[in-house]
Amino acid sequence: MDYDILIIGGGPAGLSAAYAAAANGAKIALFEKSKEIGYPVHTSGGSWLSDLEKLGIPKKFMYPIKTGYFIAPNVKAVFEYEKAEACVLDIRGLYQYLAEIASERGAEIFINHTVARPYFEGTELSGLYVRNHGVERLMKAKLVIDAGGASCFMGRELGITKGLSRYGIGAEYDLYAPDWPEGQVALLFGEKFAPKGYAWVFSYKEKRIRVGVGIIKPDTNVDPRPILENLISDNDIFSDQLKSVSRIEYHTGIIPSQGYLKHTISNNCLIAGDAGGLISTLLGEGIRFSIDIGRMAGTVASESIEAKDYSLSFLQKYEKMWQKKYKRIFDAGQFLNQRFSTYTDEKWNQKIKLLARLSPENLTTLLKGEFTPGFILKAFSDAPDLIGDVSVHLLKTAFKSA
Ligand SMILES: Cc1cc2nc3c(=O)[nH]c(=O)nc-3n(C[C@H](O)[C@H](O)[C@H](O)COP(=O)(O)OP(=O)(O)OC[C@H]3O[C@@H](n4cnc5c(N)ncnc54)[C@H](O)[C@@H]3O)c2cc1C
Repeated sequence: MDYDILIIGGGPAGLSAAYAAAANGAKIALFEKSKEIGYPVHTSGGSWLSDLEKLGIPKKFMYPIKTGYFIAPNVKAVFEYEKAEACVLDIRGLYQYLAEIASERGAEIFINHTVARPYFEGTELSGLYVRNHGVERLMKAKLVIDAGGASCFMGRELGITKGLSRYGIGAEYDLYAPDWPEGQVALLFGEKFAPKGYAWVFSYKEKRIRVGVGIIKPDTNVDPRPILENLISDNDIFSDQLKSVSRIEYHTGIIPSQGYLKHTISNNCLIAGDAGGLISTLLGEGIRFSIDIGRMAGTVASESIEAKDYSLSFLQKYEKMWQKKYKRIFDAGQFLNQRFSTYTDEKWNQKIKLLARLSPENLTTLLKGEFTPGFILKAFSDAPDLIGDVSVHLLKTAFKSA
């Protein structure tokens, strides 16, 4: 079987690229090294209802969040939403759904297939060597989409990046937690909870929560795993709600934290999702961006197949599309992420105290990284010091792209 486009990775970016490209009539093969789509889980699944609905994601995969706690060593802020804006996702359910709709459009998904290395004809990328059960075979195609996640596989092979020099490492338990209120999440900041990062408790369905700790390397060298154990078993903040938990799953993962790649197209290849650092590093949020930008990559790649034009100038359309919609969010997120890494416990106490002054709606805008000039001015008047030290940068980027 001949394919037009080969896709590396069956996460949200790869599956969405496969869906969009197949829907446009391109012949697609997607390779996923794991034995299952959506497992092992390496994400916490926090996201936003309205953004996912706009992408056509069924509500059944979203567990709405009504209460959010922000906790610093000595300060706590609580936000109550009458109508939920955030949600926590059923990851396996959602990713398998993304695989189903891609398959329905005609994409072929190969699980248990690891992309081992690229194949070049001369200097031109012309396919991939793919390994299944120890047997390697060559698959040729006009284009490759790398959606293989934080390993930045094709970016490294094509000399676009040397790989991640700054990244988050997360360790998380999925727990049976009968005493944790459904629809409640908590984010915890400061040395004790997660030096140079944050810890989280996400309720995602009745009696089930994901509790995790994420830290950023090389900003710190601490191991998140013992901190996670402590957070669950020796926690004076949520001791009642976490008193009778039981461990059901353990997840780990890496998240790019150095900003997006300068080039996300090169030599017959488009790079999407974590592979291109195309996420908001503000809180390490990538799922909704991966779905949307994955679809952009699939759409442009299939148009390139149809036009028989694989030139960089044609593929540029992809880069322009994601930049237009998300560059501002990614830039602001990266700026703030680097700031957060310098915060002391005292600074976190001050910031969370100020955060408490925001309305729930403005908190949502802040967490989504949507720093429009109007929002910055509003947040500035509600809590002048909250974004005081970064407001000049945010205003500059907001006005530049407004
Ligand atoms: C601990 C943690 C918590 C997170 N929490 C959130 C959150 O709450 N909300 C949010 O929006 N984002 C969160 N993220 C980020 C989010 O998970 C990622 O941004 C998102 O998964 C990126 O999707 P992707 O498709 O680009 O990559 P991935 O989801 O990493 O998918 C890549 C796929 O490619 C496969 N693959 C890799 N190499 C090969 C190969 N050579 N051959 C074949 N297959 C290959 C992998 O097995 C994987 O399935 C979190 C990340 C971590 C690590």
